[in-house]
Amino acid sequence: MPDDLLERLQRFTSEAFPTQRSLFRHLVDDGQHPLALFIGCSDSRIVPYLLTGAGPGELFLVRNVGAFVPPYDQSHGFHGTAAAIEFAVLNLAVQRIVVCGHTHCGAIRALYGEVPAAAQNLARWLDLGREAALPVAEPGPEVLRRTEQRAIVLQLERLMDYPMVRERVEAGQLTLHGWHYVIEEGEVHVFDVRKGFVPASQADNAGTGPYRPVAYADDIDGLDASGVPASG
Ligand SMILES: [Zn+2]
Repeated sequence: MPDDLLERLQRFTSEAFPTQRSLFRHLVDDGQHPLALFIGCSDSRIVPYLLTGAGPGELFLVRNVGAFVPPYDQSHGFHGTAAAIEFAVLNLAVQRIVVCGHTHCGAIRALYGEVPAAAQNLARWLDLGREAALPVAEPGPEVLRRTEQRAIVLQLERLMDYPMVRERVEAGQLTLHGWHYVIEEGEVHVFDVRKGFVPASQADNAGTGPYRPVAYADDIDGLDASGVPASG
């Protein structure tokens, strides 16, 4: 019986690699300089390279169940996602961090149900999204979508508790983006601190985070209490 996975590996070397040989040579000689850290849900339907059109060397990826960001703490545990954030910001000096959740997310759905008793790490991990859950027993599609979006904003807020993230955001060197990928529409909705989640086709930026971003500070000063831009 042919090993399909082995055949795919062989095809990469014989067919895909030759077309990008010089790019990979350059990335080896020069090292990687990705502009963005992409924190995405592990869901197989999120394909960051497809969404962004990025190629090799352009995205530093962290995937986990739910696209969650653990709290910045001093417990010195085996915190893979936290380690990746530190590395991306301190070593690679990325200029953007994307948190990308999506529709039909199993992690968000699981916030309203049970996980298998043996999945102790999963149960604990889901705590990172609990604050986003709404007080309903049987969530419908609209509640799930809102929970997915709330969870994304929650992770952005938690990112700001990482000192190296906050420092660079406040210095205007780093931008945080919250993305909600609507699989069935083939469109990412980006979080805009002034407007909420906006389809990328109608947005004027890739997302502005939950903080008061330096680049938009003047705009925000122009808003009155209702969130309506002041005239003039
Ligand atoms: Zn998911």
